[in-house]
Order: sequence, then structure tokens, then C-alpha cells
Amino acid sequence: MSQVYDVVIVGGGVAGTALLYALTAFTDLKRVALVEKYPRVASVNSRATNNSQTIHCGDIETNYTLEKALKVRRSAQMLVRYGSELPPTVREKVIYHFPKMVIGVGSEECAFLRQRYQVFKPHFTGMQFLEKSQIADVEPNVIRVDGTERPEEVVAIAIADEYTAINYGELSQSFVDQARLVADKTVDLKLGQPVQAIEPIGTNYRIVTAEETLTARFVVVSAGGHSLLFAHRMGIGLEYSCLPVAGNFYFTPQILNGKVYTVQNDKLPFAAIHGDPDVTTPGKTRFGPTALPLPLLERDNLKTVVDYLEVLRLDKTVASVMWDLFKVKDIRNYIFKNMAFEMPLVNRRLFLQDARKIVPSLQLEDLEFAKGVGGVRPQLIDRLQHKLILGQAEIDPGNGLCFNITPSPGATTCLGNAEQDLLRIQAHLGCEFDRSWFEAEEMSVS
Ligand SMILES: Cc1cc2nc3c(=O)[nH]c(=O)nc-3n(C[C@H](O)[C@H](O)[C@H](O)COP(=O)(O)OP(=O)(O)OC[C@H]3O[C@@H](n4cnc5c(N)ncnc54)[C@H](O)[C@@H]3O)c2cc1C
Repeated sequence: MSQVYDVVIVGGGVAGTALLYALTAFTDLKRVALVEKYPRVASVNSRATNNSQTIHCGDIETNYTLEKALKVRRSAQMLVRYGSELPPTVREKVIYHFPKMVIGVGSEECAFLRQRYQVFKPHFTGMQFLEKSQIADVEPNVIRVDGTERPEEVVAIAIADEYTAINYGELSQSFVDQARLVADKTVDLKLGQPVQAIEPIGTNYRIVTAEETLTARFVVVSAGGHSLLFAHRMGIGLEYSCLPVAGNFYFTPQILNGKVYTVQNDKLPFAAIHGDPDVTTPGKTRFGPTALPLPLLERDNLKTVVDYLEVLRLDKTVASVMWDLFKVKDIRNYIFKNMAFEMPLVNRRLFLQDARKIVPSLQLEDLEFAKGVGGVRPQLIDRLQHKLILGQAEIDPGNGLCFNITPSPGATTCLGNAEQDLLRIQAHLGCEFDRSWFEAEEMSVS
């Protein structure tokens, strides 16, 4: 039994590494391992450049209900608490202070933001409501064009002084480093080892890679879209299919001081682009992401087309959910627009129109396609309920296995999700779990 791990995690993105840290720091389990197919952790969606680097709190995400915002904020606060407790030299590479705001442009969006501010302000005390001239004080390029004010009505909900951005790649590495600092525990990191199969063996599981076979009492699969593939291969979660939505970005010279989001369309929650500083590329502003359905589980990895076709499990139900989505005019037009974003000659011009909602003085020559930047959100399709699931999902068969599929805001919620995984692990293995860190009083995020 000494060779048996208590828990093996498959996937070394921010979700898997957060769980590795939480297992070592807050439970009495002694032997854990993380298996990742690439030579470095955070090589896919959690890589710093492949996501929007935002700590989503629900304050400027206009597609979140108050209930969802408060739930996500709890996880966001865990991230800030974790980041604040890091040694300063690590912390400054992980977590960043920028002003952030969501702008409403035109009377309809402005009325919507005014009303939303009244509802959210009692819960988000750092929120400020900004009129046009106040926005110009923080983000002059959002309001001024050639020295004069843009003509449309513009207001904003803003947060001036909080941690708002994270390098999720550095965060993942810090989770591994912190986990390894915990004394008297075996924390094995198996990098560059793609897991080929997970097989039950008695009450345990075998995790098979080309180099070795591990045995574990509990397995958590946090492998992005590939989590669903592993589940399906074990005959689990067959009620789900997947719609991967890829996102591209554009760079411009530095024209924003912080994060500027726009009001989301309810039917298209990942559609509205934003602009913000890129924590890995000082001196630039990054706009995006676009949102294009692509038959890939990993961006820029064509081999994952085959994996996608396997998890798609295309049948009449999946086809009809996709057709129902396509029938909605907003969604259909949006898909066509995002296809055009990929076409040479027209792509930058079309994107410019969207980006000018944020910075009206932006010119075509300012926009540079951000090559090799952006990831894929593995959105699940629920065949039973006949609908697209817009947030994250976990498949928990309750027998020592768990599969996490984490599109946005899955990086923000990595510690919150780790807490849920620890509760499942505790229930199954009967280990100690000190939950007090997760339940600590709301801390100041400034
Ligand atoms: C364009 C875009 C913008 C986003 N912006 C934000 C944002 O601002 N804020 C936010 O909170 N979220 C954001 N997200 C979502 C966020 O990036 C993801 O929720 C998060 O990175 C998911 O982490 P993960 O660890 O589950 O997946 P990943 O980071 O994809 O990690 C999965 C890991 O599993 C590994 N793996 C796969 N198969 C195997 C195998 N067979 N064996 C071993 N390992 C395997 C992969 O190599 C990978 O390292 C964004 C996503 C996109 C695409």
C-alpha cells in the first residue's frame, strides 16, 4: 500500500495545481501526485497569454446575476488572499493592481448600468459610478477623440484600487512551489507524461502513462476539455458533449491604464470584448477575446481535432442543440462575424469596429494580431436538458473519481473549486480537511 497515492491529479493547469496546493496545505493526506502531459505546468488555457488575466468578481461582469457574482467573488477573494500571503518577490509576478471598469455606451446600456449599480453597490463597496468626465480622468482614451469628448452617452461602474489581474501561469507554478514546501509529505510532479488511461482496480484506480503506472485511492481529472474525454472513455458523463469556443486577441500601443469591459449581451456571455494591459507585455494594450467555435480541444494543437470528434458524440440531440443555438439571430450573426474575424483583409477592419466602442480614436494601423495568444473554452452541451452550459461543470460519479471542466471563470474559481474537490475527497477517503482558511472573513482586496 505504500506505493499507493492518496490522490492523483491529472492536468497541471491552474485547476490541477490549485488542488495540489490545497491538498498539501489543508488536509492530512501524505501522498499526492500531479501528472501533466507537457514539460511545464500551465501550458494550455492557464498559460499567462492564453486567457484574459482577469480576476472575475462579478462586479463588472454584466452577464452575472447578483447571486452568481457573490459566489464567484468568494473564490476571487481566496485568490487575492492566497496572492497577498505570497513572499513579495513571488507576489509581484503573480497578482496585479489595475483600475477596472465596465462602460455603457448609448442610452440603453447607460440606463442598464445605472440600475445595476443600485443593486450591486450594497454588496460591492469598492464600486463607483462614473459619469463621462470622471471616466476621462481614469481612462482619457475612452472618452476623448482628438481632444474633444465622444458624442454618445457613456457611463461606467468602476473599481479603483483592487487586485484585478493575475498571471495564471505564474500562479500555477506558485501553487506547485508552495505545495512542495509543506514538510513530511510526498508531492510528486510528473511532467511531460500524457495520461493514456484511467482504470478501476478494486476500490482504487490505475493511472497509465507511457513511462509508468500509478495507483491512487482518488483521482481528480482537471484536464480542460480532455476531462470529458477521460470521463467518456470510462463510460461516465455520456450526457455531455462539448462546444469548444476559441478566443483571439489584438495588441495596440498602450492606450488604457486598466481593464475596460463592455456590457455583455445576455444571449452571448463571452461575446463582448474588453481592453486591458497585458501583464506579460508591458507597454501594450490587449483587446479581445473574439469567440469562434473551433473543432479543437487545445488551441494550436491540430491533433486534438480527433479528441474533439470523440467527445462531440455527434447525434440528433447534439445537432439539434447546435441548430437551436444557430437559429437565434444574435448568436448566428455573432458566429458569422467571428468567422470573418479570421479572414485576411477584413479581419482587422471588423475587429476595429468593435474595439472603437472602447477607444473611439483607435486606427487600423494601431491593431496588431496577437499571434499564438488565446485559448479555447470547452463549453459543455447537456444532451438531457438540451442546452449549452455557459459556466463550468464537474462530473462527480461519487466513487473516488471527479472530472472538472472549467471554461471561464475557471481560473478565478480555481481555489473555490479545489475546496469543493477537497470536500468530495474528504467524504470518500475520510481524511482531515481544515476548512478555516477557505472560510476566513472577507479580506480587503486593496
Ligand atoms: C480566451 C480566454 C480568456 C479567458 N479569460 C479568463 C479570465 O480572464 N479569468 C478567468 O478566471 N478565466 C478565464 N478563462 C478561462 C481559464 O483560462 C480557464 O478556466 C482555466 O485556465 C482552466 O484551467 P484548467 O486547469 O482547468 O485547464 P488548462 O489550463 O487547460 O489545463 C489542463 C491541463 O491538462 C493537461 N492535460 C490534458 N490532457 C492530458 C493528459 N492526457 N495527460 C496529462 N495532462 C493532460 C493539459 O496539458 C493542461 O495543462 C479564459 C479562457 C479563454 C479561452
